[in-house]
Amino acid sequence: MNTIPSVSERKQLLKKLLRVIEKREGDIERALLKDFSKPPFETFITEFNYVVTDLKYTLKKLDRWAKPKRVIPSLFNFPSSEYMYPEPYGKVLIISPWNYPFQLAICPLVAAIAAGNTVVLKPSELSYHTSELLSQIISEVFDVKQAVVVLGGVELTQKELQKKWDYIFFTGSTRVGKIIAQEAAKNLTPCTLELGGKSPCIVDETANLDVAAKRIVWGKFLNAGQTCVAPDYILVHATQKFDLIQKIKHEIHQFYGENPQESTDFARIINKDHWNRLLGLIDPNKVIEGGTSDDWTRYIAPTLIDEPELTDPIMQEEIFGPILPFISYTQFSELEKIITKNEKPLALYVFSENKDFVDTVISKFSFGGGCINDCIMHLVNHRLPFGGVGNSGFGAYHGKHGFDTFSHRKSIVKRGTWLDIPLRYAPYTSRLKWKKILQKL
Ligand code: NAD
Repeated sequence: MNTIPSVSERKQLLKKLLRVIEKREGDIERALLKDFSKPPFETFITEFNYVVTDLKYTLKKLDRWAKPKRVIPSLFNFPSSEYMYPEPYGKVLIISPWNYPFQLAICPLVAAIAAGNTVVLKPSELSYHTSELLSQIISEVFDVKQAVVVLGGVELTQKELQKKWDYIFFTGSTRVGKIIAQEAAKNLTPCTLELGGKSPCIVDETANLDVAAKRIVWGKFLNAGQTCVAPDYILVHATQKFDLIQKIKHEIHQFYGENPQESTDFARIINKDHWNRLLGLIDPNKVIEGGTSDDWTRYIAPTLIDEPELTDPIMQEEIFGPILPFISYTQFSELEKIITKNEKPLALYVFSENKDFVDTVISKFSFGGGCINDCIMHLVNHRLPFGGVGNSGFGAYHGKHGFDTFSHRKSIVKRGTWLDIPLRYAPYTSRLKWKKILQKL
């Protein structure tokens, strides 16, 4: 049996991790620049600072999270005190993607270590420079028995999946998520699947278009659209469409200048395969902004697409790049038809000043999480669980939700012996008269 590290040992490790990450801020920035020209400020807010904040929050709260939780005891157990004891699962495999390669590897690792587990981390082979750096950071902080990074591609991941794990935490595509779930099922290994999907963004007739345009452009073109919770496509009320598109075009130029290719604030596509896949989604006849590209630098301009058919390739799969289609609607039933045509998305966004409309959307559709009058920002609050539903995944993490994900909760009833009510003991004949009273308890 493995010895479980004490809470103070876990905190020592997390403090050391924090120190090393802070020391290597420049290396993190450079690795992401090399991987896909991620703008340094985006690296700061979505990778470095996100992780640092997560670590500090975890360190602050860990003592409380790790304590057994006392619950209201059952009358049937009188006299008793009753508890949930968090217990680490044991050996955890974390498989992470390339699109936020630092954050999506380190945040699950922080939660797993905080909960007392040991970790094998398999980062993406596509974000090669960041994965190398992750390997260096983890080996500087942890003993190999506590946490280790394994580097490799699909073959290596499949080999790792053949081993017996106590928990698997996977972030990536729905297609690979299904493979992971099948492999986990062989050993009944519990898992969390953080997957993707087509996340709609609704702009109704009451929306504040100036604010909507800014926030949509930020949410969509951050990381060049390679964000699991990016607004995938816009459903805009027909009366607002023209104005919204004009304002979004204006904001694109405000953000990235007249030629976004010259901007250092706009990332590139991770590799040639994804670049080719994305270009295949652009129907040149429907482009109303952008549409240009450069294969040498794997650049694709922020591109707006007007009224694609639902049968067009761009409406069949998660876009995961800087291409934004617009579909207009007039009736709620049209929204319903389009949104429910796809599997349950990871996120959904609504820009509206109409509270009833917002409430209807929240209650009508199933999705992982989202924002009203913003995009992506539901991820910044560590008190909110982050995870999908249906094809966008199951399980969740961030803050205490991450600690809980990596902990089994043992239910313990501690009975007193000074009183032993004999009601449940045989022979039962004399107990039958108590049935009515017991039902009422
Ligand atoms: P991916 O599924 O291709 O790869 C993810 C990881 O799985 C990588 O480490 C990769 O090496 C491994 N992998 C790939 N093919 C495999 C196979 N056949 N068997 C075993 N392992 C395999 O995903 P990606 O391209 O790295 O990331 C993009 C996807 O991830 C998008 O769909 C996006 O929406 C999703 N995503 C989800 C979240 C989330 O938090 N829900 C976050 C980021 C990305």
